This record gives sequence, C-alpha cells and structure tokens, in this order.
Amino acid sequence: MPIGFYVEVSKLDKNIYLVEGENRGRYPFSNCILIKDSCLLDSGAGKNLQGFKVETIVNSHWHEDHIAKNCIADEVFAHELDAEGVENFEEFKKRYGLGELVKIFVNFEFCKVHEVFQDGDVLEFKSRIDVIHTPGHSAGHCCFLINDKIFYLADIDLSSFGPWYGCLDCDVDDFINSIKKVKKIIGEGVEIAVPGHGDVIRGNEEILRRLDGYLQTFFNREERIKELVSLGEDPVGKGIIYRKLPEPKGVYGHFERIMIEKHMQRLGLKLDHEGN
Ligand SMILES: [Zn+2]
Repeated sequence: MPIGFYVEVSKLDKNIYLVEGENRGRYPFSNCILIKDSCLLDSGAGKNLQGFKVETIVNSHWHEDHIAKNCIADEVFAHELDAEGVENFEEFKKRYGLGELVKIFVNFEFCKVHEVFQDGDVLEFKSRIDVIHTPGHSAGHCCFLINDKIFYLADIDLSSFGPWYGCLDCDVDDFINSIKKVKKIIGEGVEIAVPGHGDVIRGNEEILRRLDGYLQTFFNREERIKELVSLGEDPVGKGIIYRKLPEPKGVYGHFERIMIEKHMQRLGLKLDHEGN
C-alpha cells in the first residue's frame, strides 16, 4: 500500500513516517511510527491503519491503545516483561486489577508475541532502533530511539494530564527514573520526539522543557497528597489525578485510588481513620 494513501501519515525522516492516531492520537488511540516496508511501532492508530499490512509490529507496552491492531502484522515484538500482557487476555486482566470490568477496554483480538526484547537491544528494521526500557507506566514499557534522531516516547506521553500509573505493574519511582533516563538521551541532541498521544515535539530544548514539566507533575501531586493527609482527609476524589472522574466512575475511581496509594506508599503516609 503506498504511503501517500494515508492522509494522516507524515514524514519524519527518510523512510520514517508518523501514523497519527485517530482523533489526534487521543486515547483510546495512539500515534504509531512506520518504518517503510519493514515495521510499525505500536498499532493503536485506529482507522488510520485500516487496510494496512506490515511484517512486524514492535510494541512499546501492553496497553490496549497501543496493541489493538497487532493482528495486521506477521510477527509481534514486545519487551520480555510485557509480552504476556500483550498476547494474553488473562494476564491483561490481572494487571488492570479490575476483574470483568476490564472488558470495556477490549474490543480487539489478542495476538501472539513472536519475539521479546530487553533494554539495550538494537532492532534492525531498515533503520536502527535502540530499545530503551523505561518502566513505570508498565513493567516492560519501552521507548525507541530511531537512527539516533527520532525518539518514540510512547506513554511518557508529555500530556497535560501528566503521567499515568493506575495498573498493578506500574511504579512511581521507576517512572521518575525512566523520565530522567530519557532526558539524558534526549540531551545528547535528539530533535524530534513522538509521544504516544498528541503532537510531535520538535527542538531539543522544547522536548527537555516538556519532559521537565511532565516530571514535575509527580511532585505537585505529592504535595497535595501530603497536605490532605495532614488534614486527615482521603486524597482520593479531590481532583489530584482526575480533575473530574471520567465515566465509568467506578473504573476511573479505581485507577485514581491505585495511583494515590502508590504515592502514599512512596511517601510513607497512612490515613488516620480516627481523624486525629
Ligand atoms: Zn499505556
């Protein structure tokens, strides 16, 4: 299928294209990167991947908005810690910790993972793809550096919402360290960053500025959590994570509680239920 066929595809570099996710890559869609005639990084672009065939899909992590169209590929690659979540609904369900409610996120077929990779691996797909393991958002979350030029950030997504860590395999300390790891590599002169959601970010200084702001969100959330706990108040439902809980509230309330609990654990905080 000729590249020009896809209106939402734009050229980032020789043979490297952005396949923008539907609705500008907003959840439940995600941006993908196509290495022409070779591989696709993630497969959550929705209708912008319709009719598409590719030899290999390389997943950044196991979440539905990045793996939904894995079956259009002959083979799927994923990090060794996320492979099971990518290919197996039971493992996917376990990591969400939502029981049967998780089915609201699943309107696709799970596809087998053929190869796993690790931090530091170099994948050769007509381009050099360096695997950078960046756990936190999921245990096996990875970013990919393509030809030392284009950084696919996946769900270190630099959104104004900030980092998300509502599943059981998420970890706040890991997430913070992963952002620092990414900053170091970007600092070596990367000029193009492609987040899993939202617009491409160009310019080394601008990417670093956005990463700093994103990182700061953890600490802003923690300040507010400390404040509320010191007043004996439960920080859940106070707009610290979700300004307004999306529907279904039961599901998003669960994510918010998980995220706040992870901070409280990290800060060594406990809620005093006696209220004194
Ligand atoms: Zn994700």
